[in-house]
Amino acid sequence: MEFPEIFLNTSLLAELKTPDRNIIYDVLIIGGGPAAMSAAIYAARKMLNIAIITIDFGGQVKETSEVENYLGFQNINSNELTARFEEHVKTFNLPINTGIAVNEVIKKENIFGVIMKDGTSFSGKSVIFATGEHHKRLAIPGEKELTGRGVSYCSICDAPLFVNKKVMVVGGGNSAFTTALDLSRGNAEIILVNLAKGWQADEILIQRLKNYKNVQFLELHELTGINGKDKVESVTLRNLKTNEEKIIPVDGVFIEIGNLPNSDPVRNLVNLNEKGEIIVDCVCRTNVPGFFAAGDVTSIPHKQIIISAGEGAKAALSAYEFLTLTSKT
Ligand SMILES: Cc1cc2nc3c(=O)[nH]c(=O)nc-3n(C[C@H](O)[C@H](O)[C@H](O)COP(=O)(O)OP(=O)(O)OC[C@H]3O[C@@H](n4cnc5c(N)ncnc54)[C@H](O)[C@@H]3O)c2cc1C
Repeated sequence: MEFPEIFLNTSLLAELKTPDRNIIYDVLIIGGGPAAMSAAIYAARKMLNIAIITIDFGGQVKETSEVENYLGFQNINSNELTARFEEHVKTFNLPINTGIAVNEVIKKENIFGVIMKDGTSFSGKSVIFATGEHHKRLAIPGEKELTGRGVSYCSICDAPLFVNKKVMVVGGGNSAFTTALDLSRGNAEIILVNLAKGWQADEILIQRLKNYKNVQFLELHELTGINGKDKVESVTLRNLKTNEEKIIPVDGVFIEIGNLPNSDPVRNLVNLNEKGEIIVDCVCRTNVPGFFAAGDVTSIPHKQIIISAGEGAKAALSAYEFLTLTSKT
């Protein structure tokens, strides 16, 4: 193996057992969200020699405040839910590397090399890649600070928090219209804003939303700021035809301008679809033997915690099957 030499930064992780760079692990699990954590638990219970490599623990779940659709919990604080996942994983005392992103995954002579951003590397006979996705951001003042405090990227999760409230939805495609329709069920007052001219969603969704009385359609408008101290209080909106800017009081802002899978590190290794998602079959296999993927980074639809956790479990069982079969050949 000729992966780059390593320098282990242990300062971030004093209390954790760190992965050994001289070992070829059975499975390297990349990611620290629900998919990766579930995969870790299933792989550990199969007594596989595994290591987890992730930037952080929790993933996107940490971006919301309450979770109301995870089996067994009517309502749970997202930090508590991720803490429970993490605590469960840590009972197996697995080696974990956090704080540094994976830059690239390569395969050489049936061994995978996971190259970190700092040039260090880990080796494994198989990989479970579960790096999730990130929502495209507007990158405007207030967006980051108020995420989870009125700014949301997930109507399935957060629409129930805006019953009878005034909400802005940003975007002109199917996601924006689906979000607006979710909000309409809670009788929200909706302002739909699109930077472009017209609406890009399917006609059926457009018609459905037009049947809702409490919605205002604003094309050719740009959101330039989200304002509020501890929660969203108003937005600053610019009319692109007149260049006029005004402040509109709202309780929430849903940003639906698309998602981007975190698949960059493997774009030269596995097949991706047109969205950049890793193409997997129903048991999380990719076109590369030994390379499995799970959760939001994959082509599996319906990005949710419970789905990612289920996919992570499947990926671990598939990796186990793969290792069992290859060890016999
Ligand atoms: C604001 C918000 C609210 C939501 N609310 C809900 C809800 O109420 N209910 C629900 O079911 N779903 C909700 N979701 C969706 C849910 O969070 C995701 O479907 C789920 O977290 C996906 O899990 P995952 O493990 O696939 O990926 P992620 O949660 O995205 O985790 C990815 C992990 O990979 C790590 N990672 C990424 N890139 C790298 C890299 N290069 N190297 C190393 N590590 C990397 C990240 O640090 C992270 O730990 C919400 C999402 C958002 C954004």
